[in-house]
Amino acid sequence: MDKSAPKPEHIQQLSIGDNEEDLDPAHLARFQFERAIAWLEGFKDGLIQSLVAPKRTIEVYFPVEMEDGSVQTFHGFRVLHNRVMGPGKGGVRYHPEVDKEEITALATLMTWKCALLDIPFGGAKGGVNCDPKKLTQTELRRITRRFITELGDNIGPNTDIPAPDMYTDAQTMSWIFDTYDILHPGRNNLPVVTGKPLDLGGSLGRPEATGRGCLYATMRYLEKEGIGSSRTLEGSRVVIQGFGNVGMTAAKLFQQAGATIIAVSDSRGGIQQADGIDIEAAARFKEQEGSVVGLPDTLTITNTELLELDCDILIPAALGKQIHCGNAQRIKARLVVEAANGPVTPAADDILTDRGIPVLPDILVNAGGVTVSYFEWVQNFSNERWALDDVNTRLRSKMFDATDLVLTRWHAMRDEEEKAFAAETSAGEIYNVPVSLRTAALAVAIARIANVTLERGIWP
Ligand code: NAD
Repeated sequence: MDKSAPKPEHIQQLSIGDNEEDLDPAHLARFQFERAIAWLEGFKDGLIQSLVAPKRTIEVYFPVEMEDGSVQTFHGFRVLHNRVMGPGKGGVRYHPEVDKEEITALATLMTWKCALLDIPFGGAKGGVNCDPKKLTQTELRRITRRFITELGDNIGPNTDIPAPDMYTDAQTMSWIFDTYDILHPGRNNLPVVTGKPLDLGGSLGRPEATGRGCLYATMRYLEKEGIGSSRTLEGSRVVIQGFGNVGMTAAKLFQQAGATIIAVSDSRGGIQQADGIDIEAAARFKEQEGSVVGLPDTLTITNTELLELDCDILIPAALGKQIHCGNAQRIKARLVVEAANGPVTPAADDILTDRGIPVLPDILVNAGGVTVSYFEWVQNFSNERWALDDVNTRLRSKMFDATDLVLTRWHAMRDEEEKAFAAETSAGEIYNVPVSLRTAALAVAIARIANVTLERGIWP
Protein backbone atom coordinates (compact mmCIF):
# COMPACT_ATOMS: atom_id res chain seq x y z
CA MET A 1 0.00 0.00 0.00
CA ASP A 2 1.61 3.29 -1.04
CA LYS A 3 -0.07 6.04 0.88
CA SER A 4 2.95 8.28 0.43
CA ALA A 5 2.33 8.77 -3.29
CA PRO A 6 2.00 12.45 -4.23
CA LYS A 7 -1.55 13.64 -4.11
CA PRO A 8 -3.19 14.33 -7.48
CA GLU A 9 -3.74 17.96 -8.29
CA HIS A 10 -7.49 17.87 -7.69
CA ILE A 11 -6.88 16.64 -4.14
CA GLN A 12 -4.36 19.36 -3.34
CA GLN A 13 -6.91 21.87 -4.58
CA LEU A 14 -9.41 20.79 -1.96
CA SER A 15 -7.48 22.57 0.80
CA ILE A 16 -7.44 26.12 -0.47
CA GLY A 17 -6.84 27.64 2.95
CA ASP A 18 -7.82 27.29 6.59
CA ASN A 19 -11.37 28.41 5.98
CA GLU A 20 -11.79 27.67 2.31
CA GLU A 21 -12.46 24.43 0.54
CA ASP A 22 -13.01 23.30 -3.02
CA LEU A 23 -16.58 22.01 -2.85
CA ASP A 24 -17.00 21.01 -6.49
CA PRO A 25 -19.06 17.78 -6.27
CA ALA A 26 -16.90 16.01 -8.85
CA HIS A 27 -13.72 16.89 -6.94
CA LEU A 28 -15.24 15.76 -3.63
CA ALA A 29 -16.33 12.40 -5.08
CA ARG A 30 -12.89 11.91 -6.65
CA PHE A 31 -11.09 12.89 -3.46
CA GLN A 32 -13.01 10.36 -1.39
CA PHE A 33 -12.46 7.68 -4.04
CA GLU A 34 -8.68 8.29 -4.17
CA ARG A 35 -8.45 8.15 -0.41
CA ALA A 36 -10.29 4.83 -0.24
CA ILE A 37 -8.39 3.12 -3.06
CA ALA A 38 -5.08 3.82 -1.32
CA TRP A 39 -6.21 0.96 0.95
CA LEU A 40 -7.00 -1.47 -1.86
CA GLU A 41 -4.24 -3.77 -2.98
CA GLY A 42 -3.89 -6.68 -5.32
CA PHE A 43 -6.00 -5.50 -8.22
CA LYS A 44 -4.74 -5.42 -11.81
CA ASP A 45 -3.07 -2.19 -12.84
CA GLY A 46 -5.66 0.28 -14.03
CA LEU A 47 -8.68 -1.76 -12.93
CA ILE A 48 -9.66 0.48 -10.05
CA GLN A 49 -9.02 3.62 -12.11
CA SER A 50 -11.38 2.26 -14.78
CA LEU A 51 -14.20 2.58 -12.23
CA VAL A 52 -13.95 6.37 -12.13
CA ALA A 53 -15.50 7.29 -15.46
CA PRO A 54 -19.24 6.79 -16.01
CA LYS A 55 -20.24 4.06 -18.43
CA ARG A 56 -22.72 6.25 -20.24
CA THR A 57 -23.83 9.87 -20.15
CA ILE A 58 -26.98 10.92 -21.97
CA GLU A 59 -27.61 14.60 -22.49
CA VAL A 60 -30.83 15.74 -24.14
CA TYR A 61 -32.43 19.04 -25.11
CA PHE A 62 -36.16 19.02 -25.68
CA PRO A 63 -38.93 21.56 -26.27
CA VAL A 64 -42.05 21.77 -24.10
CA GLU A 65 -45.13 23.85 -24.78
CA MET A 66 -45.84 25.93 -21.67
CA GLU A 67 -49.30 26.82 -20.37
CA ASP A 68 -48.99 30.40 -21.70
CA GLY A 69 -48.53 28.99 -25.22
CA SER A 70 -44.78 29.68 -25.43
CA VAL A 71 -42.21 26.96 -26.07
CA GLN A 72 -39.32 26.42 -23.68
CA THR A 73 -36.25 24.22 -24.23
CA PHE A 74 -35.12 22.03 -21.34
CA HIS A 75 -31.77 20.32 -20.76
CA GLY A 76 -31.84 16.85 -19.20
CA PHE A 77 -29.28 14.23 -18.22
CA ARG A 78 -29.14 10.56 -17.33
CA VAL A 79 -25.81 9.15 -16.23
CA LEU A 80 -25.24 5.42 -15.81
CA HIS A 81 -22.05 5.20 -13.82
CA ASN A 82 -21.52 1.46 -13.53
CA ARG A 83 -23.58 -1.65 -14.17
CA VAL A 84 -21.43 -4.63 -13.25
CA MET A 85 -23.71 -5.44 -10.28
CA GLY A 86 -26.94 -5.01 -12.26
CA PRO A 87 -29.12 -2.36 -13.94
CA GLY A 88 -28.60 1.30 -13.09
CA LYS A 89 -30.56 2.73 -10.16
CA GLY A 90 -30.87 6.32 -9.10
CA GLY A 91 -33.14 9.30 -8.70
CA VAL A 92 -34.28 11.97 -11.13
CA ARG A 93 -34.07 15.53 -9.83
CA TYR A 94 -35.66 18.71 -11.12
CA HIS A 95 -33.60 21.71 -10.03
CA PRO A 96 -32.13 24.91 -11.56
CA GLU A 97 -28.60 23.79 -10.59
CA VAL A 98 -28.73 20.38 -12.27
CA ASP A 99 -25.67 19.88 -14.48
CA LYS A 100 -23.65 17.01 -15.90
CA GLU A 101 -20.92 17.17 -13.24
CA GLU A 102 -23.34 17.02 -10.31
CA ILE A 103 -25.41 14.21 -11.84
CA THR A 104 -22.23 12.22 -12.57
CA ALA A 105 -20.96 12.63 -9.00
CA LEU A 106 -24.34 11.50 -7.63
CA ALA A 107 -24.48 8.51 -10.02
CA THR A 108 -21.02 7.48 -8.80
CA LEU A 109 -22.18 7.65 -5.18
CA MET A 110 -25.14 5.44 -6.08
CA THR A 111 -22.74 2.80 -7.42
CA TRP A 112 -20.88 2.67 -4.10
CA LYS A 113 -24.12 2.80 -2.08
CA CYS A 114 -25.70 -0.17 -3.90
CA ALA A 115 -22.44 -2.13 -3.70
CA LEU A 116 -22.10 -1.47 0.03
CA LEU A 117 -25.65 -2.68 0.70
CA ASP A 118 -25.13 -5.64 -1.64
CA ILE A 119 -28.07 -4.64 -3.81
CA PRO A 120 -27.90 -5.94 -7.41
CA PHE A 121 -27.94 -2.50 -9.01
CA GLY A 122 -25.37 -0.19 -10.51
CA GLY A 123 -25.28 3.54 -9.93
CA ALA A 124 -27.25 6.04 -12.00
CA LYS A 125 -28.77 9.50 -11.65
CA GLY A 126 -30.72 11.87 -13.83
CA GLY A 127 -32.20 15.29 -13.85
CA VAL A 128 -33.68 18.15 -15.77
CA ASN A 129 -32.42 21.68 -15.36
CA CYS A 130 -35.59 23.61 -14.44
CA ASP A 131 -37.14 25.51 -11.57
CA PRO A 132 -40.03 23.30 -10.41
CA LYS A 133 -41.31 26.04 -8.07
CA LYS A 134 -42.16 28.12 -11.15
CA LEU A 135 -43.81 25.29 -13.12
CA THR A 136 -47.42 24.11 -13.06
CA GLN A 137 -48.36 20.44 -12.62
CA THR A 138 -49.30 20.30 -16.31
CA GLU A 139 -45.88 21.66 -17.31
CA LEU A 140 -44.12 19.22 -14.96
CA ARG A 141 -46.11 16.34 -16.49
CA ARG A 142 -45.16 17.43 -20.03
CA ILE A 143 -41.48 17.79 -19.05
CA THR A 144 -41.49 14.33 -17.45
CA ARG A 145 -43.20 12.61 -20.38
CA ARG A 146 -40.95 14.26 -22.95
CA PHE A 147 -37.77 13.61 -20.94
CA ILE A 148 -38.63 9.92 -20.52
CA THR A 149 -39.47 9.63 -24.22
CA GLU A 150 -36.09 11.20 -25.07
CA LEU A 151 -34.34 8.62 -22.87
CA GLY A 152 -36.11 5.88 -24.87
CA ASP A 153 -34.77 2.38 -24.21
CA ASN A 154 -31.89 3.69 -22.14
CA ILE A 155 -34.17 3.19 -19.14
CA GLY A 156 -36.05 -0.04 -18.48
CA PRO A 157 -36.78 -2.63 -15.77
CA ASN A 158 -33.49 -4.40 -16.52
CA THR A 159 -31.54 -1.45 -17.88
CA ASP A 160 -31.75 1.62 -15.67
CA ILE A 161 -34.46 2.30 -13.11
CA PRO A 162 -35.28 5.88 -12.04
CA ALA A 163 -36.61 6.91 -8.60
CA PRO A 164 -37.59 10.18 -6.86
CA ASP A 165 -34.99 12.75 -5.88
CA MET A 166 -35.04 16.52 -5.26
CA TYR A 167 -38.41 18.00 -6.36
CA THR A 168 -39.69 14.77 -7.90
CA ASP A 169 -42.15 12.56 -6.07
CA ALA A 170 -44.57 9.64 -6.36
CA GLN A 171 -46.63 11.64 -8.89
CA THR A 172 -43.56 12.13 -11.10
CA MET A 173 -42.83 8.40 -10.86
CA SER A 174 -46.42 7.63 -11.95
CA TRP A 175 -45.92 9.77 -15.08
CA ILE A 176 -42.60 8.02 -15.78
CA PHE A 177 -44.26 4.60 -15.46
CA ASP A 178 -47.21 5.63 -17.62
CA THR A 179 -45.02 7.07 -20.37
CA TYR A 180 -42.77 4.01 -20.47
CA ASP A 181 -45.79 1.69 -20.35
CA ILE A 182 -47.44 3.42 -23.31
CA LEU A 183 -44.21 3.07 -25.30
CA HIS A 184 -43.80 -0.62 -24.32
CA PRO A 185 -47.30 -2.16 -24.22
CA GLY A 186 -48.09 -5.78 -23.44
CA ARG A 187 -45.63 -6.50 -20.63
CA ASN A 188 -45.15 -5.90 -16.91
CA ASN A 189 -43.52 -2.48 -16.85
CA LEU A 190 -44.02 -1.72 -13.15
CA PRO A 191 -40.35 -2.38 -12.28
CA VAL A 192 -39.19 0.41 -14.63
CA VAL A 193 -39.38 2.96 -11.83
CA THR A 194 -39.57 2.89 -8.00
CA GLY A 195 -41.05 5.28 -5.46
CA LYS A 196 -44.46 4.88 -7.10
CA PRO A 197 -47.73 5.42 -5.21
CA LEU A 198 -48.94 2.39 -3.25
CA ASP A 199 -51.85 1.60 -5.56
CA LEU A 200 -49.54 1.74 -8.58
CA GLY A 201 -47.07 -0.88 -7.34
CA GLY A 202 -45.25 1.18 -4.69
CA SER A 203 -43.91 -0.59 -1.62
CA LEU A 204 -45.16 -0.26 1.92
CA GLY A 205 -42.45 1.39 4.00
CA ARG A 206 -40.82 3.23 1.08
CA PRO A 207 -41.65 6.79 2.25
CA GLU A 208 -40.09 6.16 5.70
CA ALA A 209 -37.27 3.91 4.44
CA THR A 210 -34.42 6.44 4.50
CA GLY A 211 -35.18 7.69 8.02
CA ARG A 212 -35.72 4.13 9.22
CA GLY A 213 -32.44 2.97 7.62
CA CYS A 214 -30.72 5.86 9.44
CA LEU A 215 -32.18 4.54 12.72
CA TYR A 216 -31.00 0.97 12.05
CA ALA A 217 -27.44 2.02 11.06
CA THR A 218 -27.17 4.16 14.22
CA MET A 219 -28.59 1.40 16.47
CA ARG A 220 -26.11 -1.10 15.09
CA TYR A 221 -23.21 1.33 15.43
CA LEU A 222 -24.13 1.96 19.08
CA GLU A 223 -24.52 -1.74 19.79
CA LYS A 224 -21.02 -2.45 18.44
CA GLU A 225 -19.06 0.71 19.29
CA GLY A 226 -21.18 2.64 21.81
CA ILE A 227 -20.90 6.27 22.77
CA GLY A 228 -18.97 6.23 26.03
CA SER A 229 -20.61 3.45 28.03
CA SER A 230 -23.96 3.73 26.25
CA ARG A 231 -24.82 1.03 23.71
CA THR A 232 -28.42 2.00 22.92
CA LEU A 233 -30.40 5.10 21.99
CA GLU A 234 -32.13 5.07 25.38
CA GLY A 235 -31.55 8.47 27.00
CA SER A 236 -29.31 9.80 24.20
CA ARG A 237 -29.69 13.50 23.31
CA VAL A 238 -30.22 13.91 19.56
CA VAL A 239 -30.15 17.00 17.30
CA ILE A 240 -31.60 16.84 13.78
CA GLN A 241 -31.12 19.40 11.01
CA GLY A 242 -33.94 19.21 8.46
CA PHE A 243 -37.55 18.25 9.17
CA GLY A 244 -38.61 16.84 5.81
CA ASN A 245 -39.06 13.24 4.73
CA VAL A 246 -35.81 11.97 6.22
CA GLY A 247 -35.40 14.30 9.23
CA MET A 248 -39.01 14.07 10.45
CA THR A 249 -39.13 10.28 10.07
CA ALA A 250 -35.79 9.93 11.86
CA ALA A 251 -37.00 12.25 14.65
CA LYS A 252 -40.15 10.14 15.21
CA LEU A 253 -38.31 6.82 15.11
CA PHE A 254 -35.39 7.92 17.29
CA GLN A 255 -37.88 9.26 19.85
CA GLN A 256 -39.81 5.97 19.78
CA ALA A 257 -36.48 4.17 20.35
CA GLY A 258 -35.92 6.09 23.57
CA ALA A 259 -33.84 9.07 22.42
CA THR A 260 -34.58 12.64 23.53
CA ILE A 261 -34.75 14.96 20.52
CA ILE A 262 -33.44 18.23 21.94
CA ALA A 263 -33.46 20.27 18.69
CA VAL A 264 -34.80 20.13 15.14
CA SER A 265 -34.83 22.63 12.29
CA ASP A 266 -36.00 23.43 8.79
CA SER A 267 -35.03 26.09 6.26
CA ARG A 268 -36.59 28.86 8.42
CA GLY A 269 -34.57 28.00 11.55
CA GLY A 270 -34.43 25.67 14.52
CA ILE A 271 -36.14 24.97 17.84
CA GLN A 272 -34.57 23.71 21.05
CA GLN A 273 -36.02 22.13 24.19
CA ALA A 274 -33.56 20.51 26.62
CA ASP A 275 -36.25 18.21 28.05
CA GLY A 276 -37.15 16.94 24.61
CA ILE A 277 -39.39 18.14 21.79
CA ASP A 278 -42.75 16.44 21.26
CA ILE A 279 -42.08 15.36 17.67
CA GLU A 280 -45.70 14.54 16.82
CA ALA A 281 -46.65 18.06 17.98
CA ALA A 282 -43.78 19.56 15.95
CA ALA A 283 -44.97 17.66 12.85
CA ARG A 284 -48.53 18.94 13.29
CA PHE A 285 -47.25 22.49 13.87
CA LYS A 286 -45.10 22.36 10.71
CA GLU A 287 -48.08 21.07 8.73
CA GLN A 288 -50.18 24.05 9.87
CA GLU A 289 -47.56 26.82 9.97
CA GLY A 290 -45.09 25.67 7.32
CA SER A 291 -42.19 25.57 9.80
CA VAL A 292 -41.24 24.12 13.17
CA VAL A 293 -40.14 27.59 14.29
CA GLY A 294 -42.58 28.97 16.86
CA LEU A 295 -43.65 25.63 18.38
CA PRO A 296 -44.87 26.56 21.89
CA ASP A 297 -42.47 25.88 24.80
CA THR A 298 -39.39 25.80 22.58
CA LEU A 299 -36.49 28.20 22.15
CA THR A 300 -35.88 29.52 18.63
CA ILE A 301 -32.30 29.07 17.41
CA THR A 302 -30.49 29.41 14.08
CA ASN A 303 -29.38 26.46 11.98
CA THR A 304 -25.77 27.46 12.72
CA GLU A 305 -26.42 27.29 16.47
CA LEU A 306 -28.27 24.00 16.10
CA LEU A 307 -25.29 22.27 14.48
CA GLU A 308 -23.03 23.35 17.34
CA LEU A 309 -25.29 22.21 20.21
CA ASP A 310 -23.91 19.90 22.89
CA CYS A 311 -25.51 16.50 22.18
CA ASP A 312 -24.76 12.81 21.79
CA ILE A 313 -25.86 12.41 18.17
CA LEU A 314 -26.07 15.07 15.45
CA ILE A 315 -28.05 14.08 12.35
CA PRO A 316 -27.70 16.48 9.41
CA ALA A 317 -30.74 15.54 7.30
CA ALA A 318 -31.18 18.58 5.05
CA LEU A 319 -28.49 19.75 2.65
CA GLY A 320 -24.89 19.02 1.68
CA LYS A 321 -21.80 20.86 2.98
CA GLN A 322 -23.35 21.91 6.32
CA ILE A 323 -20.37 20.90 8.45
CA HIS A 324 -17.23 22.35 6.89
CA CYS A 325 -13.77 23.56 7.82
CA GLY A 326 -15.32 26.75 9.26
CA ASN A 327 -17.48 25.08 11.94
CA ALA A 328 -16.11 21.53 12.41
CA GLN A 329 -13.97 22.57 15.38
CA ARG A 330 -17.10 23.82 17.18
CA ILE A 331 -19.21 20.66 16.73
CA LYS A 332 -19.92 19.23 20.18
CA ALA A 333 -21.77 16.06 19.16
CA ARG A 334 -20.17 12.74 20.08
CA LEU A 335 -21.35 11.04 16.89
CA VAL A 336 -22.38 12.55 13.53
CA VAL A 337 -24.84 10.54 11.43
CA GLU A 338 -25.00 11.70 7.79
CA ALA A 339 -28.64 11.29 6.76
CA ALA A 340 -28.35 13.91 3.98
CA ASN A 341 -26.05 13.41 1.01
CA GLY A 342 -22.63 14.94 1.69
CA PRO A 343 -23.44 17.12 4.74
CA VAL A 344 -19.84 16.85 6.02
CA THR A 345 -17.08 18.17 3.73
CA PRO A 346 -13.76 16.27 3.46
CA ALA A 347 -11.92 18.92 5.50
CA ALA A 348 -14.57 18.71 8.22
CA ASP A 349 -14.43 14.92 8.05
CA ASP A 350 -10.72 15.08 8.87
CA ILE A 351 -11.23 17.59 11.68
CA LEU A 352 -14.02 15.54 13.29
CA THR A 353 -12.19 12.23 12.89
CA ASP A 354 -9.06 13.79 14.37
CA ARG A 355 -11.13 15.08 17.31
CA GLY A 356 -12.43 11.57 17.92
CA ILE A 357 -15.95 12.33 16.66
CA PRO A 358 -16.93 9.48 14.32
CA VAL A 359 -18.96 10.30 11.21
CA LEU A 360 -21.29 7.52 10.09
CA PRO A 361 -21.16 8.12 6.31
CA ASP A 362 -24.02 8.91 3.94
CA ILE A 363 -23.47 5.94 1.63
CA LEU A 364 -24.37 3.75 4.58
CA VAL A 365 -26.78 5.89 6.63
CA ASN A 366 -29.17 7.00 3.88
CA ALA A 367 -29.09 3.75 1.88
CA GLY A 368 -32.46 2.67 3.33
CA GLY A 369 -34.25 4.47 0.48
CA VAL A 370 -32.54 2.59 -2.33
CA THR A 371 -32.82 -0.64 -0.36
CA VAL A 372 -36.62 -0.44 -0.15
CA SER A 373 -36.66 0.72 -3.79
CA TYR A 374 -34.96 -2.57 -4.54
CA PHE A 375 -37.67 -4.35 -2.52
CA GLU A 376 -40.31 -2.51 -4.59
CA TRP A 377 -38.62 -3.69 -7.80
CA VAL A 378 -38.57 -7.30 -6.57
CA GLN A 379 -42.25 -7.10 -5.52
CA ASN A 380 -43.18 -5.66 -8.94
CA PHE A 381 -41.48 -8.50 -10.81
CA SER A 382 -43.27 -11.11 -8.71
CA ASN A 383 -46.60 -9.24 -8.57
CA GLU A 384 -46.56 -9.37 -4.78
CA ARG A 385 -47.09 -6.94 -1.94
CA TRP A 386 -45.00 -7.56 1.16
CA ALA A 387 -46.38 -6.69 4.59
CA LEU A 388 -44.86 -3.62 6.26
CA ASP A 389 -43.23 -5.75 8.99
CA ASP A 390 -41.65 -7.89 6.31
CA VAL A 391 -40.22 -4.83 4.51
CA ASN A 392 -38.85 -3.37 7.76
CA THR A 393 -37.33 -6.65 8.92
CA ARG A 394 -35.55 -7.07 5.60
CA LEU A 395 -34.39 -3.45 5.71
CA ARG A 396 -32.99 -3.87 9.22
CA SER A 397 -31.10 -6.97 8.16
CA LYS A 398 -29.55 -5.15 5.15
CA MET A 399 -28.61 -2.10 7.23
CA PHE A 400 -27.13 -4.18 10.07
CA ASP A 401 -25.08 -6.31 7.66
CA ALA A 402 -23.69 -3.25 5.85
CA THR A 403 -22.89 -1.49 9.15
CA ASP A 404 -21.08 -4.61 10.37
CA LEU A 405 -19.04 -4.77 7.16
CA VAL A 406 -18.00 -1.13 7.50
CA LEU A 407 -17.03 -1.53 11.16
CA THR A 408 -15.04 -4.70 10.51
CA ARG A 409 -13.14 -3.03 7.66
CA TRP A 410 -12.61 0.10 9.75
CA HIS A 411 -11.07 -1.85 12.63
CA ALA A 412 -8.80 -3.74 10.23
CA MET A 413 -7.64 -0.44 8.72
CA ARG A 414 -7.04 1.08 12.14
CA ASP A 415 -4.94 -1.92 13.15
CA GLU A 416 -2.94 -1.52 9.95
CA GLU A 417 -2.46 2.17 10.68
CA GLU A 418 -1.24 1.48 14.18
CA LYS A 419 1.29 -1.04 12.91
CA ALA A 420 2.50 1.44 10.31
CA PHE A 421 2.83 4.13 12.98
CA ALA A 422 4.91 1.83 15.10
CA ALA A 423 7.06 0.57 12.22
CA GLU A 424 7.82 3.77 10.40
CA THR A 425 7.75 7.18 11.94
CA SER A 426 8.27 8.76 8.51
CA ALA A 427 4.76 7.60 7.70
CA GLY A 428 3.53 10.13 10.24
CA GLU A 429 2.75 12.78 7.68
CA ILE A 430 0.51 10.43 5.75
CA TYR A 431 -1.15 8.84 8.74
CA ASN A 432 -1.76 12.10 10.57
CA VAL A 433 -5.54 11.80 10.31
CA PRO A 434 -6.94 8.47 11.53
CA VAL A 435 -8.82 6.49 8.91
CA SER A 436 -12.52 7.39 8.80
CA LEU A 437 -15.65 5.27 8.63
CA ARG A 438 -16.31 6.84 5.21
CA THR A 439 -13.00 5.58 3.82
CA ALA A 440 -13.79 2.12 5.24
CA ALA A 441 -17.28 2.12 3.68
CA LEU A 442 -15.94 3.21 0.29
CA ALA A 443 -13.15 0.65 0.41
CA VAL A 444 -15.72 -2.13 0.99
CA ALA A 445 -17.90 -0.89 -1.87
CA ILE A 446 -15.12 -0.25 -4.40
CA ALA A 447 -13.46 -3.61 -3.67
CA ARG A 448 -16.79 -5.37 -4.23
CA ILE A 449 -17.24 -3.70 -7.64
CA ALA A 450 -13.64 -4.44 -8.63
CA ASN A 451 -14.02 -8.10 -7.62
CA VAL A 452 -17.27 -8.54 -9.55
CA THR A 453 -15.70 -6.84 -12.58
CA LEU A 454 -12.92 -9.44 -12.51
CA GLU A 455 -15.33 -12.33 -11.89
CA ARG A 456 -17.33 -11.33 -14.96
CA GLY A 457 -14.09 -10.86 -16.92
CA ILE A 458 -13.33 -7.72 -18.84
CA TRP A 459 -14.86 -7.92 -22.31
CA PRO A 460 -13.63 -9.34 -24.65
P1 NAD B 1 -37.12 17.12 2.04
O1 NAD B 1 -37.20 18.14 0.97
O2 NAD B 1 -38.31 16.30 2.36
O3 NAD B 1 -36.68 17.83 3.42
C1 NAD B 1 -35.59 18.69 3.51
C2 NAD B 1 -35.68 19.44 4.82
O4 NAD B 1 -34.53 20.26 4.96
C3 NAD B 1 -36.90 20.38 4.92
O5 NAD B 1 -37.40 20.33 6.23
C4 NAD B 1 -36.29 21.76 4.67
O6 NAD B 1 -37.01 22.79 5.30
C5 NAD B 1 -34.94 21.58 5.33
N1 NAD B 1 -33.98 22.56 4.89
C6 NAD B 1 -33.81 23.10 3.67
N2 NAD B 1 -32.82 24.01 3.70
C7 NAD B 1 -32.36 24.03 4.97
C8 NAD B 1 -31.35 24.74 5.63
N3 NAD B 1 -30.62 25.64 4.99
N4 NAD B 1 -31.14 24.48 6.94
C9 NAD B 1 -31.89 23.58 7.60
N5 NAD B 1 -32.85 22.87 7.03
C10 NAD B 1 -33.09 23.09 5.72
O7 NAD B 1 -35.85 16.22 1.67
P2 NAD B 1 -35.53 14.76 2.20
O8 NAD B 1 -36.08 13.77 1.28
O9 NAD B 1 -35.82 14.68 3.65
O10 NAD B 1 -33.95 14.70 1.98
C11 NAD B 1 -33.05 15.28 2.92
C12 NAD B 1 -31.64 14.86 2.55
O11 NAD B 1 -31.55 13.44 2.54
C13 NAD B 1 -31.16 15.32 1.19
O12 NAD B 1 -29.76 15.57 1.29
C14 NAD B 1 -31.37 14.11 0.31
O13 NAD B 1 -30.52 14.11 -0.81
C15 NAD B 1 -31.02 13.01 1.29
N6 NAD B 1 -31.60 11.71 0.92
C16 NAD B 1 -32.96 11.54 0.88
C17 NAD B 1 -33.47 10.30 0.55
C18 NAD B 1 -34.96 10.04 0.55
O14 NAD B 1 -35.36 8.89 0.37
N7 NAD B 1 -35.80 11.05 0.77
C19 NAD B 1 -32.61 9.24 0.25
C20 NAD B 1 -31.23 9.44 0.30
C21 NAD B 1 -30.75 10.70 0.64
